[in-house]
Amino acid sequence: MALSGLDIFKKLPKTNCKKCNFPTCLAFAMQVAAGKTEISACPDVSADVVSQIAEATAPPIRPITIGAGDSALKIGEETVMFRHDKRFEHQPGIGLLVTDEMSDETLNNHIKQFNATGFERVGVMMRAEVMAIKSVTGDAERFKAVVKKVVDETQALLVLMSDSADILKAGLDICATRKPLICGVTVDNLDSVAQLAKEYNCPVTVKGETLEQMADLTTKLNAAGVKDIVLYPTTTSVKDRFEQETMIRRLPLKKTYRPLGFPTIVFPCDFTADKDEEIMIASTFVARYSGIIILSTLEPHYTYPLFCLRMNIYTDPQRPMTMEEKVYEFNNPGKDAPILVTTNFSLTYFLVSGEIESSRKPVWLAIQNTEGLSVLTAWSAGKFNAESIAKFIKNSGITEKVSHKNIVIPGYVAELSGDLEEELGPGWKVIVGPREAPSLPGFLKQWQVN
Ligand code: SF4
Repeated sequence: MALSGLDIFKKLPKTNCKKCNFPTCLAFAMQVAAGKTEISACPDVSADVVSQIAEATAPPIRPITIGAGDSALKIGEETVMFRHDKRFEHQPGIGLLVTDEMSDETLNNHIKQFNATGFERVGVMMRAEVMAIKSVTGDAERFKAVVKKVVDETQALLVLMSDSADILKAGLDICATRKPLICGVTVDNLDSVAQLAKEYNCPVTVKGETLEQMADLTTKLNAAGVKDIVLYPTTTSVKDRFEQETMIRRLPLKKTYRPLGFPTIVFPCDFTADKDEEIMIASTFVARYSGIIILSTLEPHYTYPLFCLRMNIYTDPQRPMTMEEKVYEFNNPGKDAPILVTTNFSLTYFLVSGEIESSRKPVWLAIQNTEGLSVLTAWSAGKFNAESIAKFIKNSGITEKVSHKNIVIPGYVAELSGDLEEELGPGWKVIVGPREAPSLPGFLKQWQVN
């Protein structure tokens, strides 16, 4: 059960010595209860108390890291059932499955496909992060060779798949520094694979058809000292899996049921051989609630919608995507090029900039910070008005780069033109531009300095 700040306070030395960088023990206890600092920051509590409080204040769904360094994938740590309750914390990793029975040519094609996968959307690169390597042949040498090839030719985060501890060990000897996910622990191999997880300090999956089986395995793994676990429900029914994902989220969050408090991995190709269906199933588990999704293909026409869906669901609904406030240059603008001003909502920026680029007309695009609000929303919230635009333009340095005093505002805020001319000062002329970005190329073709 979660501990309150007062529960934690009772276990502290109450000397207010400030060694934890908080003014009092009570202030420190409140921060620990809120999950904002660790109990271990107090050097004067016993190891026993540290372990009791750390256990009681641990996140209901354990954070798990696959890989090492800056490119590591963090999953788990979710706190809500629904995105609109707060936000989802970590987007699922998307990956490609290869097996050791693939021919060298097929393997090469898969590696090439993995390395080529990447789409830019609203300034963010969307990529696949993971490659899962599955032992099908049962030949440790072949598995090792495939792992080595993937390690040598990609920067992928890795999932090593076999029920045999010997084969997993062969793969781990090649890629241990990449901290792969070991997949996985079953009823039959628990002791030997748990030993590997500890020896190589890597997370493991537990495989089970039912929630009860997986809860039993995670309890045994925890007792054996293995804490970093990913759940791999093996049912081949989409309906059952959907229900399991919901329960795996609900039980830890609502009932503090720790044995299922872990992220999950899903292989949509386990449910179907049809690629269209596979991607539809994958999209279901992007929304609910897989931590890693491994596909049989990364062909762009299948994966682009999936990456977009992932981005849409896993952006923080309380924090709009924004662009930096500054003047952006397009097509080598000179002194005569027009100044266009708009807001720093990412989608606004990319719609406008896309049309400017396609027009091939030189433009200074002044992006004002409106805290990520679009034009009309920012205007109605008082964050995009004559005063704020004039202040930004005067401070932006653009006036030294052009030989005119014309500025184009979005058509939706035409009524700002009079006030803006006054705020900008003598000589400035405000021109009302199009309401929608697709009309910009036509507008720019007719542009001339007045
Ligand atoms: S270091 Fe420990 S004893 Fe000292 S103020 Fe912080 S919580 Fe209290």
